[in-house]
Amino acid sequence: SSPIIYVVTPTYKRPEMVAELTRLGQTLSMVQNIHWIVAEDSATCSRPITGLLQRLGLPYTHLATPMPDVYRKERYVPRGVSNRRAALQWVRDYGKNTGVLFFLDDDNAIDIRLFEEMRSTETVSMWPVGLIGEYTVSSPVVKNGKVVGFYDGWPAGRKFQVDMAGFAVGVGYMKKQKKVTMPYIAGHEEDGFLKSLNININEIEVKANGCTDILVWHTRTAKNPLRNLNIESHQNDNIKV
Ligand code: UDP
Ligand code: MN
Repeated sequence: SSPIIYVVTPTYKRPEMVAELTRLGQTLSMVQNIHWIVAEDSATCSRPITGLLQRLGLPYTHLATPMPDVYRKERYVPRGVSNRRAALQWVRDYGKNTGVLFFLDDDNAIDIRLFEEMRSTETVSMWPVGLIGEYTVSSPVVKNGKVVGFYDGWPAGRKFQVDMAGFAVGVGYMKKQKKVTMPYIAGHEEDGFLKSLNININEIEVKANGCTDILVWHTRTAKNPLRNLNIESHQNDNIKV
């Protein structure tokens, strides 16, 4: 059978949470052989999300791992790290070696053809991501079938100028690396994680038609001004509690 894809989605309680995860979950329901890890930045699993996961019928794991307060106080808060780290630990403990790990934020948009591109990942694979920064796309630069650099509007001294949705990792490969982690450094989460995987740029597996197809987009949702809206009351989001 084809390798299982572990899709890790960090999320947190705010008015848009149920809407984002409903949309994403229904997209993921169209894909065979995936396991959705919904990793909340929270002390507890949100009830409406548990209900959603049960209804969708996909294999899933629901985790809750809050960000330590020290990081929440920083000027640029690293988003979704504690919860992604918990999901990484889950994949190390329970993931199949033949599987593939992929991070997908709750507000992004994805073409399900990307899953069949990443399914063959053995070490680390990459592809372009649309709607990133000033250049409107972030992509590996490919020459003779190999990655030779990155096209990205925010180099920031990063070795791997890649968005969170722009790569996948072979679980067996990841388990062989000794100190895999994601740093609590805003803007450098991907770069830090990829460096910890000990991959050389010229070993990266090129996907999406030689990195010419855009199959995932870093869409963002406008924030609801009712920040205190209680998501447990999502059945009528118009009621402020
Ligand atoms: N996130 C989180 N905790 C937070 C803020 C964000 O877990 O305090 C999640 C969020 O749900 C998303 C990811 O981390 O899946 C990236 O956050 P966001 O979309 O706000 O970042 P941006 O797209 O603006 O870089
Ligand atoms: Mn986002």
